[in-house]
Amino acid sequence: MKNYKIRFVPLGGVVGVTKNMYLYELYQNESLKDILIIDCGIGFPQEKELGVDFVIPDISYLEDKKDKIRALILTHGHEDHTSALPFHYHALGQPPVFASRLTAIFSENKLKEHGIALKINQVNYQKTYRFGDFTVSFIKMTHSIPDTLHLFIKTPVGNFYHGPDFKLDLTPPYGQPPEFEKITAAGKEGVLCLLSDCLGAEREGLTLSEKIVGKTFEDEMRKTKGQFIMTTFSSNISRIRQCVEAAIKFNRKVVFLGRSMKENTKLAMENGYLPIPYEFLIKEDEVKRIPPGKLCLIVAGSQGQYDSALSKLANGQNPNIKIGQGDKIIFSSDPIPGNESDVYSLIEDLMEKGAEVIYSEIGEQLHSSGHGNQEDLKFLIRFTNPRFFIPIGGTIRHQKQYQKIVADLGFTKNSVFLLKEGETVWFLNQKAFLGEKVETKNIYVDAYGVGDVGNVVLRDRKALATEGMVIAVLIFDSQGQLITSPKLISRGFVFEKEEKGLYKKATNLIEKLTKPRGQPQNLNEVKRTIINQLEDLFYKEKGRRPLIVVEVITI
Ligand SMILES: [Zn+2]
Repeated sequence: MKNYKIRFVPLGGVVGVTKNMYLYELYQNESLKDILIIDCGIGFPQEKELGVDFVIPDISYLEDKKDKIRALILTHGHEDHTSALPFHYHALGQPPVFASRLTAIFSENKLKEHGIALKINQVNYQKTYRFGDFTVSFIKMTHSIPDTLHLFIKTPVGNFYHGPDFKLDLTPPYGQPPEFEKITAAGKEGVLCLLSDCLGAEREGLTLSEKIVGKTFEDEMRKTKGQFIMTTFSSNISRIRQCVEAAIKFNRKVVFLGRSMKENTKLAMENGYLPIPYEFLIKEDEVKRIPPGKLCLIVAGSQGQYDSALSKLANGQNPNIKIGQGDKIIFSSDPIPGNESDVYSLIEDLMEKGAEVIYSEIGEQLHSSGHGNQEDLKFLIRFTNPRFFIPIGGTIRHQKQYQKIVADLGFTKNSVFLLKEGETVWFLNQKAFLGEKVETKNIYVDAYGVGDVGNVVLRDRKALATEGMVIAVLIFDSQGQLITSPKLISRGFVFEKEEKGLYKKATNLIEKLTKPRGQPQNLNEVKRTIINQLEDLFYKEKGRRPLIVVEVITI
C-alpha cells in the first residue's frame, strides 16, 4: 500500500543478547501513526562487581511518542524480556500489556513489587488482535519456559514474523509443541521479514528436547550420595519442574533457595505450573534434620551473581546448609556471554568445598539449550520463507553465523541486517534499508535506584576498587583561614604509617593551596584545585590514582 512504511527499532537485545526491547513503528504519509513494542527486559552489565545490578533499555527516544504506543507485548517470562517493565511502565504512558498466562503471572508479580497493580491481558491464541494498523496473531512456541510465544504481525507494508527465544521442541515436557501449522500458514501468506533468535547459530544440528534434561537429572541423582543441588534461572520453570519430579522419584525433599527462586516457584505452584506434593517441600531451616542423600536443593545464582543463594553456599555463608564431599551441583544453564568469569570462579569455589560440579563444558545433555541450534533456525527460515532477516537476541558472533546459515539456504547475504542497538531498518514497497540510528545509553540500576548510577559513579567505584581512596578534611574559620592543618584519611591506597613523607607533602600542598589571597575564596574552586594537584602528586609518587574526596567544614 502506498504512503505507508515501517521502521524497526531495537532498543536492546541485538549484540548484547539480553535487555530485549523492540519497536515496530508504522508511518503514514511520513508521520508516525502506531507503535508496537515487543518485550521490555533487563540486561546484565560487565560492571556487576562495582555494585550495578543490571541495566534497562533507554526509552528516551519514546519520550514524545507515547501517545502512539498501541500495545506492549511480552513474548515469554524470562527476565531479559520482561523485567524492565516495572521501571518503564509509567514512562511509556501505561500502554495495554499483552502476554501469555505464565508470563502475565510472573510480570504482574514483578509489577506489584514496584507498587504497580496492573492486569496484563492474557492472549487468546485463536484470536487476532488489532493494535492501530497492526494486526497481530500469536503462535505457541517452545523454549525453556512454558507459555512462550511468537508473533505474526501484519502491517500495510508487509508481514513480519517476530521469533525471539525459541527451540523447536517436539516433545516438550509440559505444554504443547510449537504450532507448526500456524508458522507455515504465515509463510504461505508471505513474510517480508523474519526476526529470529540467533543465539544457537554456532551449534550444529537440532537442539535436544527439554525432556532430555529430566532424564539427565534422574541419572545424576541416582549416582549422588550427598545433597543434589541444581542451579538454573529462577524463571526456567520447565527445568525446575523436571528436577522436582526426579527428586520425588528418588524420594529427596525439595528446598528452594534464593529470593527469586522462592518467589517464582511459589507463583508457579499456585498456578498449576509446578505441582509438588506438600510432604516433599521443606524449608531451608529444616535441612539439618534430613540426611544429605535425601535432599534436592534448587538454587538461584547460576550466573555467578555476587550475593546470590549459590554464592552464599559456595562461600559457606548459609547458616543451615553446608557443601561438602559427596554433594553434586549441576549448572543447568550456560553463562550468558559476559558472565563467564563469574560463573567459573563460582564453580571453582564449589569444587574447593569438595563437591562434584557438573557444567556444560564437561557434562553433555545436562542442559539442553533453550535456544534453537542451526537446524531449528533453518526450519523457521524454511517455514516462513521471508524476504529479509534480522537476527535478534545474539552477539555479533551469533548474528554473523546466522547470516551464514541464511546464505547456505540460498538467500542472499545482504537480505540479512546485522544490527547494533539503536540501528534501525526501514521497510517500504517490499524493500528494506538501514535507517538513521537512534541514540541510546545504558541505564544502570543498582540496589539504591534507577539511573542515578552514571558514568561518573562507575568511574568512582572503579577507582575505589582498584586504587583506593583518600579523604582530605579541611576546617576553615569564617574568614576562610585553615584553623588546623588538614587531616588526611586513606583507605586501600597506602599505609599512612609507612608513607609519612607522602602525607606530609600532601598536607603541605593543601596548606599552600588554601592560603588566603586577599580576596574571598571560591571554595568549590579550591576543592577542585586540591583534588587535581593531589591526583598529580599521588600519581607521580605512587603511580596510582585513588578516589580523592575533599570535605570542607566551616566553623
Ligand atoms: Zn528466553
